[in-house]
Amino acid sequence: MSETYMRVPATGPKRTVYTDAMEIFHRAADLIGLNPRVRLELEEPDYEHIFYVTVKLKDRLVPVTGADAAPFADLPVTQVRNPEGLEALADGKIILNGRALLGSDVAIRRGHLRLPSGGVYQLVPGEAQRFKAYRVQHNQARGPYKGGIRYHREVSLDLFKALAAEMTWKTAIAEVPFGGGKGGIQLDPRQYGREELEAITLRYMYKLKSLVGPNIDIPAPDVGTNGEIMALMLRQFSDGERERHAQRGVVTGKDVRIGGSEGRVKATGRGVVFCVEDFYAERGETLKGKTFIVQGFGNVGSHAAEILCGMGAKLLAVNDADGTIFNGDGIDASALMAHTTDSKNLKRSVAGFAGAQKIEKADFWAVPCDFVIPAALGGEITSEVAERMKTKLIAEGANGPTTPEADAILQKRGIEMIPDIIANAGGVTVSYYEWIQNKRMESWTEAEVNKKLEFAMKRNYRIIRDIARNSARKSEMHDSARFLIGKEMSTRAAAMVLALKRIEAHYLLEGFSQ
Ligand code: NAD
Repeated sequence: MSETYMRVPATGPKRTVYTDAMEIFHRAADLIGLNPRVRLELEEPDYEHIFYVTVKLKDRLVPVTGADAAPFADLPVTQVRNPEGLEALADGKIILNGRALLGSDVAIRRGHLRLPSGGVYQLVPGEAQRFKAYRVQHNQARGPYKGGIRYHREVSLDLFKALAAEMTWKTAIAEVPFGGGKGGIQLDPRQYGREELEAITLRYMYKLKSLVGPNIDIPAPDVGTNGEIMALMLRQFSDGERERHAQRGVVTGKDVRIGGSEGRVKATGRGVVFCVEDFYAERGETLKGKTFIVQGFGNVGSHAAEILCGMGAKLLAVNDADGTIFNGDGIDASALMAHTTDSKNLKRSVAGFAGAQKIEKADFWAVPCDFVIPAALGGEITSEVAERMKTKLIAEGANGPTTPEADAILQKRGIEMIPDIIANAGGVTVSYYEWIQNKRMESWTEAEVNKKLEFAMKRNYRIIRDIARNSARKSEMHDSARFLIGKEMSTRAAAMVLALKRIEAHYLLEGFSQ
């Protein structure tokens, strides 16, 4: 009997940010002939947690303009007795904290009021809201899961899977005894007040509590989170526990006054700099007079830029989510940091900085320079950007900033690459130092931390370069002979080869539990 129906052709595997990120894994796995069962173990995460947190939001004053504001032009101005109670957000709305309006002369008409600035606002009562939250635990062959918490509008399970896998590679490359994890919440933190973010964070950790711990899974800051958020997570995790102080290591990236490590805040940026410094040192050059541009002026970008400027390099241009600036004579990174961290600069943007001129984002990538530090989000260096870059070296501060297509173009154009999994490993390296200090109840000096970090970064970066060139070397910091695989490859593939060799050893020597 013949079949009369049509078969739907089998579709190929869907391309996602995760499959893109895993391309290099598969390439390196092929190169070293990775054990097939180990490949299966690493190909997908151990656990993918998706859950929801609900929080009651506060009342807001929402700005009203144009024709909607006109009927309220004659409204008497509301004099707020406690201006501390008003919290301005980056989106123009104002949160009413506590009893902000209590004791004030309030003139409200149909839910609208006018503030001394002259602006008309609609009073919108706070309601409960639900947020989607994630934690992906990729692999723990080498130690507890470890990885950041991201608060951002554009997050997804695929993205966190990619970032968690990258942490598995990074912790192996950095030689710290951790595996890989990543997670976060789908929200733009700039749209919420301080107390709202506190409530969201506490609720997130409340739901996460059974999944994490100092010897199980250790979160850290990432995009949109910082030491304050880590402090809240620590409190929610340890409050009321019998051995509360033994649990400090449940998160890293804490403030130094509550168990954080000296040098942690700057560690990722500093690690990027150590790699760039070693890149030039091998050529007998220093950073003095070298020109560079930075995308993203948050934790990673701003500290890397400031340290580089301190070493005599010249910062020519910066692009962030809200603006792009350029100064051919060099941008003063410390002054720019003061500008972005000024409490009046609600967007924390480089836009409006007096020491540089505004340029278009499209022109940013084409600024001629010695090296580029992408330190914003993933996927920013596309094929089109890669074709237009006028640089000799890229040091990836961000995670996954270069698409696979762009990577191939950069290689063809002979632009050198310090890939993310080594370039930005400084953060997790000092997170490890923080975790040890917590376990031992010790506190190390910044000089000690930086010295250890320099050794770790340069040692592992040198091994990666040697793998890439298939040339064994020995220095006071490293010995690469046992990692070479008998052929040359890109530095990105070499970094992955180093990671896989270190991870595979655990499976091959410890075997698989049944
Ligand atoms: P951050 O939130 O402190 O700063 C992010 C910066 O990127 C901001 O300046 C923001 O304006 C900019 N940005 C956001 N979207 C952008 C866009 N579309 N175009 C241009 N700029 C944009 O974050 P961070 O901690 O500095 O992290 C930056 C990158 O480094 C991320 O990829 C993160 O995963 C990676 N990373 C961070 C650490 C760490 O210790 N913080 C460690 C390793 C890797």
